Parts: sequence; C-alpha cells; structure tokens
Amino acid sequence: MSFDNREESIRRIIDMEDRIAKCQRCLPLSKCVYKPSFGKGELDPEVFMVFESDNKNTKDSKWLINLRNLIKNELNVDNIYHTFLVRCEPKACTARHNLNNLTDGCSTYNKLLNKDNICFLKSNICSGITVKPSNEEIIRCLPFLLEEMEILKPPHIILFGERVIDYVSKSFGVYELDNHSYFQKKNINFYRASSEESFDISEFTQFKTYFQSVL
Ligand code: SF4
Repeated sequence: MSFDNREESIRRIIDMEDRIAKCQRCLPLSKCVYKPSFGKGELDPEVFMVFESDNKNTKDSKWLINLRNLIKNELNVDNIYHTFLVRCEPKACTARHNLNNLTDGCSTYNKLLNKDNICFLKSNICSGITVKPSNEEIIRCLPFLLEEMEILKPPHIILFGERVIDYVSKSFGVYELDNHSYFQKKNINFYRASSEESFDISEFTQFKTYFQSVL
C-alpha cells in the first residue's frame, strides 16, 4: 500500500470510529458500553476476520493471539485485522431493565458505565451477561462493517458464525450459498467459519486449498 493510500485509510477509519463512538442507534446497548468495539490489526490486511460482537473469547487477548498465529501459520499471511458485526456488546442486565421500566424506555442518553467498567446504577463492576445481538441491532450496525471493508479492501474475509455469514453474504447480493466453505463476490474471497466458540483448526483444511488457489 502506498504512503498516500495508507494515510487516507487511517483518516477514514478514524472518522468512522469517531461516528461509532457517538452512535446512539441502539440506545440501551450503547448506554452499557463505555467504548464500542473497534476493528484492530494491520490496515492493509490480507485476512480480515468478522465476529458477531465482542464476547469472552474476543476479549481474551491470549485467545486472539492464538487465532491470529494459527491463521498466519496455516495460510502463510502476515497482515490480519479483526472487527465486529455489532460494535456495542449486547448484555442482559436486570438493573438496566428495571431502570427502563421506571424511565419509560430509558430515553435520555447517559453512559451507565465508566472507563473502569463500573456501573453507575450499582456502584460496582458491570455484571451484565453477554447475549446475542438482535436482528434489528445487526441491521443498524451493519453499515459500519461494510464501510470498514470498503476502506480496507481486504482480499480475504473470514466470517465467524451463521448470522455473520448470512448478513454479510446478503449485503453482497449472495442469497443462496452452496455446500462450499467459501464464495467469491466483488473480487473478495469470503470464508464461512463456525462461530468463534466452536471454531476448530480442521476448518482450515477446507479453506486452505481454495485460499492458495486464489493467491
Ligand atoms: S451497536 Fe452499532 S448501531 Fe447500535 S449503537 Fe452501537 S455502534 Fe450504533
């Protein structure tokens, strides 16, 4: 990537992250997240990974490093980037639920968490339980992911989990998938992986031959 292109990518990513940080499209979610989950990794990625939303695996740096090393070794690449379909980690929380009941939908925008993950409602560390995002939350957040792909233009994208596969493939106009673990659209090679909780190294054997054939 040329210096000018890299500078332009950095500028556009920072601009997008600024909009994500201020986003209130899913008010209950964004209240309980001090900072939304941004993409991380090299800005000229050979492999771009998409997870559904932040969870105990993706927040575990050891787990992420192992996955990155696995991909580097198996696919013989150096530059990897990962990001999320939904940026504000969805959580089930009784304290927020009760507040919503009292305030008729919790319509004012104030963060309920500080940077140390302390909840203002309970004066204690957040005990919200990570849950799956709703379809509406996915649809609201999806434009950020598509914008990120357009900025970074990765040649290979690994989609983790059925919902990520479903929403991204349809966004690219692919409505029916065959039995293969990969598909190609707009010069991007997409790989269908299990969700990160059940992803297994043996899945790489299915990707690898195709990956090497399109290098
Ligand atoms: S999940 Fe995405 S769309 Fe919803 S508030 Fe957070 S950044 Fe905005």
